[in-house]
Amino acid sequence: MTPTVFLFDIDGTILTAHGAGRRAMQAAFEAECPGQAEAMASVAFAGMTDPGIVRTALRRAEQPADDAQVQRVVEAYLRRIEAELGVNPPREIGGARAAIEAAERHAHAAVGLGTGNHVDGARYKLASVGLWDRFAFGGFGSDAEDRAQMLAVGRDRGLARLGADTARVVVIGDTPRDISAAVTIGAQCLAVTTGPHDASALEAADRVVDRLDHPAALQFLLG
Ligand SMILES: [Mg+2]
Repeated sequence: MTPTVFLFDIDGTILTAHGAGRRAMQAAFEAECPGQAEAMASVAFAGMTDPGIVRTALRRAEQPADDAQVQRVVEAYLRRIEAELGVNPPREIGGARAAIEAAERHAHAAVGLGTGNHVDGARYKLASVGLWDRFAFGGFGSDAEDRAQMLAVGRDRGLARLGADTARVVVIGDTPRDISAAVTIGAQCLAVTTGPHDASALEAADRVVDRLDHPAALQFLLG
C-alpha cells in the first residue's frame, strides 16, 4: 500500500463539543480584554486555528495583536476549556471512530491529527471521548497559526514516523479551510458534512461524504 499520512481534524469531524470551545474562548477574551466581548463573539471559529481566532478578535477590538498578546489569551482559554468541556461532555460524531480504525488498519500509515486546536485543548477534547491515545502525533494550532503551515508540521511529523521522504497525505476535515489548506500542501482531502458545512460548500474536496463510515470514505482512506 502507498505510504500514507492521515491528518484528522477534530471539531465537526471527530466530535462536537457543544460550544465549549467558544464559551471558553469568549470568557478568556473578556477576562483579558474587558468590554470587548463583541469582537470575539463576531469571529466564526470553523476551520480556524486557536491563535488565528484570537488574533482576529484582538484586531477587531483594535487591541494590540502581537504574539505575546495572542499567547496570553490562548493561555487564558486553556485554563477554562477543561471545565467547559465538563459542563456538557463532547459527543463523538457517528462514523468517525470507524474511519480512524480504517486508517489504523492501513499497512503503511501514520495516523495523526491536523487541527487548529492548541495541543492541550486537543488533548482535553479527544480524551473526553476516549480517542486521544489513538493519535501518536499531529499538527496543532500551537505549532502554526496558518492552517496550511499547521498541516505541513503534521505531515512532516508523520513522514518522520514512516521514515519516508514522501507519502500520500490525506486530510480529513469538515470545512472549506481544511480543503484549501490541504490543497496548499499538496494533500488530498476527505470532507465530511458533520460540521457546519453542507456538501456544496465542500465540493472542492477529493471526496465528500455525510458520514466517515460511508463505504466511499473508507475506500478513499485506504487509497
Ligand atoms: Mg473542524
